[in-house]
Amino acid sequence: MKHVTILGSTGSIGVSCLDVISRLPEHFAVGYLTTHQNVEALYEQARQFRPKAVAVVESSDAGERSEWRGRFKSLGIEFLTGAAGVEELAGRDDVDVVVNAIVGAAGLRPTLAALTAGKTVALANKETLVTAGELVASTARQRGGKIIPIDSEHSALWQCLEGESLASIETIILTASGGPFRTRTITEMEKVTVTEALQHPNWSMGRKITIDSATLMNKGLEVIEACWLFEAPLRKIRVLIHPQSIIHSMVEFVDGSIKAQMGTPDMRIPIQYALSYPQRLANKLPRLDFSRWSTLTFQEPDFDKFACLRLAYQAIENGGTAPTVLNAANEVAVHAFLDERLGFLDIPRMVDSALQRHQNHRAADLEAVISADQWAREFVRDELRRAPY
Ligand code: NAD
Ligand code: MG
Repeated sequence: MKHVTILGSTGSIGVSCLDVISRLPEHFAVGYLTTHQNVEALYEQARQFRPKAVAVVESSDAGERSEWRGRFKSLGIEFLTGAAGVEELAGRDDVDVVVNAIVGAAGLRPTLAALTAGKTVALANKETLVTAGELVASTARQRGGKIIPIDSEHSALWQCLEGESLASIETIILTASGGPFRTRTITEMEKVTVTEALQHPNWSMGRKITIDSATLMNKGLEVIEACWLFEAPLRKIRVLIHPQSIIHSMVEFVDGSIKAQMGTPDMRIPIQYALSYPQRLANKLPRLDFSRWSTLTFQEPDFDKFACLRLAYQAIENGGTAPTVLNAANEVAVHAFLDERLGFLDIPRMVDSALQRHQNHRAADLEAVISADQWAREFVRDELRRAPY
């Protein structure tokens, strides 16, 4: 029996993770759960899964907090608050796996807390590795923590690389659906609405990653995530558009052999593998029916139309705090787009301006990362205040 903490249990990945756990009760039990502010949903999850403690980052006022504390207490569950509460639960020792399903760079400190405690982190929160890849990798190394990817592409690569040496990799091929605007022209993309951008063709996900998938920033973040997870140089990582999302990614080896990992586009499969690793457990999730997929297609990504992908390559190549700035500027720009305060193509424009104006800090320690992150957020907010988009 493995005990699992889920940070961000009320989100898309968090809910899928609880679904996986509920289907395999003889293998998994919940340790701790956390949410940003969705305390009602957290309470319902707590009634079903009985964690030892929960944490809520933001709750409206002291009166409400004490009421919720009482309600959780009557279930025998400890109630923590604030980002510090999430970090504390991330570092608690009496669990086997910590799933980080938080969205954004807010996931960094909890990841570090879990790795510092020597835990295995099942990582969905790719922003952790983008914003502070070097720091996260060195913390894991020094403290005996381990990262297992949940992101479907990286789970695919992880599986393709099982039993292989890193030296035998010729190319890591990260597949991308291409998002809802794959066939649009750049002129058409200028005017796309929030509703259109939220219509992902293959995956149902949280709002931020859905917009990232439409700009292809998601694939850019995943290129950076792959660099850190697999210690792979940038030149070995190639993005390939594959609209059907059946091949989740591939590795081409030095002898010309290629391994691909496939399956239905259902995040519960990579989540389950991250929890059960190195074992595989039988389940009843829907299977891939090859007779339905007579054609799998592939094409090169368009770096001009999807400037976010180009910017991500540029940021990891520049190194230091450039990826931190890429990520933070993107987070603020995506939220502004979702609030209809920014056009779709202004997202890459904002990120580009932030990267150009940023004074890169080579030693990306925690202090440098936090200050670059805050600088980039403030830079984009200033731009938003100055120019009405
Ligand atoms: P989501 O918005 O549905 O859920 C985010 C969760 O994080 C929620 O539980 C929320 O309460 C919590 N949260 C938000 N802000 C927080 C903060 N400041 N501090 C602490 N907790 C906070 O997002 P999601 O789609 O589940 O994505 C989560 C992560 O997984 C992202 O990094 C995303 O890129 C990655 N991911 C998601 C999918 C997917 O299918 N949804 C696939 C691959 C990777
Ligand atoms: Mg992915």
